[in-house]
Amino acid sequence: MSDPLDDMYREIILDHYKAPRGKRPLDDKDIESDGHNPSCGDELTMQLKVDKDNIVQDVHVDCKGCAISVASGSMLAEYIKGKPLNDVKRISEAIKKMLKGEETDIPEDLGDIDSLKGVRNFPVRIKCALLAWMTLIEGVKNFETGTKPGSFTVSTEDDKKEH
Ligand code: ZN
Repeated sequence: MSDPLDDMYREIILDHYKAPRGKRPLDDKDIESDGHNPSCGDELTMQLKVDKDNIVQDVHVDCKGCAISVASGSMLAEYIKGKPLNDVKRISEAIKKMLKGEETDIPEDLGDIDSLKGVRNFPVRIKCALLAWMTLIEGVKNFETGTKPGSFTVSTEDDKKEH
């Protein structure tokens, strides 16, 4: 029996799991996106409020799922608040690559998100960590193309197509 995560990382992940950031639903939102990860059963709802300059003002993430998926969503909520949407997009794509073990050059200090790196050794958990970031990427894409919020669901199963 081995634990999927290093001890030093497990503590950070459990902290987010026990007290997820961004719990409060937003009254006013510009981006809404739902994601699910059928391989684990994780379900996630995300809401974003952006200002006229496309800076993320507020984030709501509600994830019902395993510790990794909840923690990843919580870290996302904490990290993207106050950032311009363009940065958010770039960082999300970079984190997606990082979690999948692909080459990235992330200049930013990712803080707690760094602790998710441990899942790369456990393919079954990678999708759990990816869920929040993929839901965010889809939500932003819909926002930019003017697609109505909440009108779609992203599945991490779709990721297979990229391989
Ligand atoms: Zn999961």
